[in-house]
Amino acid sequence: MLIDPLPYESRLQARPLSQIDLVVIHCTELPDLAMAREYGERVLYPEPDAPEGTGNSGHYYIDRDGKVFQYVPLQRIAHHVRGYNPRAIGIELVNTGRYPEWLDSRNQGMDEPYTEAQVASLIALLRKLQDELPSLRQIAGHEDLDTTTTSASDDPRVQVPRKRDPGPLFPWPRVLEAVTLERLLW
Ligand SMILES: [Zn+2]
Repeated sequence: MLIDPLPYESRLQARPLSQIDLVVIHCTELPDLAMAREYGERVLYPEPDAPEGTGNSGHYYIDRDGKVFQYVPLQRIAHHVRGYNPRAIGIELVNTGRYPEWLDSRNQGMDEPYTEAQVASLIALLRKLQDELPSLRQIAGHEDLDTTTTSASDDPRVQVPRKRDPGPLFPWPRVLEAVTLERLLW
């Protein structure tokens, strides 16, 4: 694992590790890790105690070759899912998803498979987190927790999901079998 903190990491709100009971699985919906890093570094809004601002990112990123990067320490609250951030760890799998037309109604397939190396690294990371964090109990996909829809970019009469990650190709049965976390559905 490579520790590679985001520039604004120390401005994210602190939390005790005992507050963490949920891990949320995402995919980047971007072509590669370099672009995911670029998006993660973007400053989007001020924090209560840090007007210089922070942005959206997961705590961990897993590349297609299985390499794991930590962008945010667990003691900081990252912005990766509406409504659940204070209690959650965000894990992002590099995957193209619906990029670059995320909200186009003709492009909702999410058809890039996750690699064997990625899934193996994810399972190893989840087991490590379970060992280190006794309060960790639940796991969810981003799509399970944010089920809001919005007008499609190609046709405003059609509604598409804002979030579809990790999507239909994520191997839920295999992952759930490898850990003792309970799946949380909205
Ligand atoms: Zn997500």
